[in-house]
Amino acid sequence: MAEEAHSLAIDQVVQKALDDANVSESDLSAVAVTVGPGLSLCLRVGVHKARKIAKSFRLPIVGVHHMEAHALVSRLVNKDLDFPFLALLISGGHNLLVLAHGLGQYVQLGTTIDDAIGEAYDKSARWLGLDMRKGGGPALEQLALEGDPNAVKFSVPMRQHKDCNFSYAGLKTQVRLAIESRNISTDDIRISSATKDDRQIRANIAASFQRVAVLHLEERCQRAVEWALKMEPSIKYFVVSGGVASNQYVRTHLNQIAEKNGLQLVCPPPKLCTDNGVMIAWTGIEHFIAGRFDDPPAVDEPDDMQYDLRPRWPLGEEYSEGRSASR
Ligand code: ATP
Ligand code: FE
Repeated sequence: MAEEAHSLAIDQVVQKALDDANVSESDLSAVAVTVGPGLSLCLRVGVHKARKIAKSFRLPIVGVHHMEAHALVSRLVNKDLDFPFLALLISGGHNLLVLAHGLGQYVQLGTTIDDAIGEAYDKSARWLGLDMRKGGGPALEQLALEGDPNAVKFSVPMRQHKDCNFSYAGLKTQVRLAIESRNISTDDIRISSATKDDRQIRANIAASFQRVAVLHLEERCQRAVEWALKMEPSIKYFVVSGGVASNQYVRTHLNQIAEKNGLQLVCPPPKLCTDNGVMIAWTGIEHFIAGRFDDPPAVDEPDDMQYDLRPRWPLGEEYSEGRSASR
């Protein structure tokens, strides 16, 4: 289904982007396309389209890492943001803490050992009966404003592990158990039809979940800042991006971590935090300028060629304290 949705949308999306920018393919200097990580069936749709354009108009191709794009779009919105910097990337499928040394040069300080925070927001929102049409995350953030963040005692994940990794599967389960034990249904009940008391219970769960989910981020980020400053004392910026970075509660709390450590927080505007084409184009520009691109496809390249996709593509080598991080 995802592949079909991509195939149905791709031509129109590309055409609309060209129309909105008032350019045609012949005005382009290169084509940037996501080659990973992600579902190969979907990646292939994009790569196929990109190579078709590149072949017809003799354009170089830049293969982009989706998570690098989430990080680098911050350099589009803040032109002073130079490497090295620390980045937290929080989205539907990733929870990454990276030290960015340069283009394509990242050291991974932490990742999730199970779910990403966006997945925990989405599942919790569904169980709370929220309207998922604009995404579970924004709906839960909204409901949490009505709740008491200390009403439900959720435990903070991984405190015994003194590293920068994350875990959200356990917190997700805690949310489900909290809902079940309060006798409010997790089956597709719409919050809009809930009674006042029922709504308050749900809001309390939402606020308590959000408090602990973000406290977990804060604790790991504080440690990551310490690790990063030891390796690169010149760091000035703390970048937070990915869909969950559009959350105001998340931004406020991570700004406190940044300020406490003398760093400046850079969060792209919400529409550039969630998935967007601008971040892919911008990352393409950065690599293109640095001379990192592929030649245009051969004119006789067959339409059914096996592309070099990277469904699993780590953003950088792993680092853990005690082990030195060579670049
Ligand atoms: P990945 O980047 O890991 O491949 P993705 O591309 O699907 O995953 P993004 O588009 O970057 O993810 O982000 C989507 C996620 O962000 C969803 O889980 C969504 O619920 C979450 N999200 C969006 N807005 C908010 C918000 N205001 N509060 C919390 N979560 C949010
Ligand atoms: Fe994404």
